[in-house]
Amino acid sequence: MKVGEAARHNPDLRSYHEAMPDPLDWLNDALADLDERTLRRTRAARQSPQRGDHLVIDGQSLINFGSNDYLGLASDPRIIAAAHGAIDELGWGAGASPLVTGRSQLHAALERELAGFEAAEAALLFPTGYAANVGAVTSLVGKGDAVYSDALNHASLIDGCRLSGATVHVYPNDHAAGSRQNDLERLEVLLREGGRFRRKLIVTDSIFSMHGTYAPLCGLTHLAGKYGAMLMVDEAHATGVVGETGRGICESSCDDGITLRVGTLSKALGGMGGFVAGSQKLIDWLANRARPYIFSTSAPAAVAAAGLAALKIIRDEPERRVSVEAKAIELRRQLVVKGVIRPTSSSHIIPVILGQPARALAAAAELRRRGFFVPAIRPPSVPEGESLLRISVTALHTNQQIDDLVAALCDVAR
Ligand SMILES: *Cc1c(COP(=O)(O)O)cnc(C)c1O
Repeated sequence: MKVGEAARHNPDLRSYHEAMPDPLDWLNDALADLDERTLRRTRAARQSPQRGDHLVIDGQSLINFGSNDYLGLASDPRIIAAAHGAIDELGWGAGASPLVTGRSQLHAALERELAGFEAAEAALLFPTGYAANVGAVTSLVGKGDAVYSDALNHASLIDGCRLSGATVHVYPNDHAAGSRQNDLERLEVLLREGGRFRRKLIVTDSIFSMHGTYAPLCGLTHLAGKYGAMLMVDEAHATGVVGETGRGICESSCDDGITLRVGTLSKALGGMGGFVAGSQKLIDWLANRARPYIFSTSAPAAVAAAGLAALKIIRDEPERRVSVEAKAIELRRQLVVKGVIRPTSSSHIIPVILGQPARALAAAAELRRRGFFVPAIRPPSVPEGESLLRISVTALHTNQQIDDLVAALCDVAR
């Protein structure tokens, strides 16, 4: 309730409330500080379906380069029909957490399918990828343990590390370097010095969500094996997009030696939800320990039905993955040739690093004036001094749209 609202209805309270300091007075300064540093966020309200290539905001129709709908599934009619069917059959709300009555047969079927897709013994479905990461890290390590976290990891992994109570070691990520050899050497030093810890866990994004670079999975599996550490890989931006069958970057590099993988249904799968895949005993443990799993209501069964339909499309239509990769290679090639980016990113997420937040915001505004939506990413989503334009390439973009974006970026971001 707004401060003073009760007083409006009761004149006796009015002078009392007028004399009271507003306990949120500090927010005036805090928000002004965000304004001053060009870090205040505004929130747009999209007026069109989410599509990997197009959207409408504030009545303006824009070419969308700011979507994680990499395969163009968020508005796929087959997925929409699957969700409708589940609503008709099982209703809308799940009504309870999964260990009570929230888990429907569709949630169970999706977990089985996800395990198959991931070539794992079992999988556990969470309401979001964020919840999956927080739930997994906090279930695997605690006080007396050590967790080793890449400096560019996603906020949900960072929060899981902090909440776990384990000692957190952040190892560097020199994303501009040609190789991650120095970073791995630093990690090895930390692991070697960690003999006093009971358990060790290494956590990493597989594709770093703002920089688009790949984690050095083979180096990490090697170190995990050598020092007896668990290895957790978050494939949020790779699930469905990368790898022969879409399992992620682990599929084409070092899959063995990864203890657990996290994926999301919210990006390339075009829906909502997160999951952990791993051995049966690991999943049994998480179902008993992961607090975001146990203490949160299950997603509606329709969300699970949509996930099942998306998995089927990913299995049946590998050409979508091939198309994303080809378009990303072409866009990166053009941007490197034109001197807009250096050849460091390697995926369908292409950052144009501009430095100060004001510069990134101005570039995004100018692109928007020219009909492109490309988000400006500022701290704390990226380190200080690395504000950037984050371009996401999807299967729906046309070659013409890509050429037009390059032409605009040459004016705006060079
Ligand atoms: C988006 C993202 C998540 C969170 O997934 P949601 O399903 O959106 O909650 C986790 N990890 C990484 C690397 C991400 O980019």
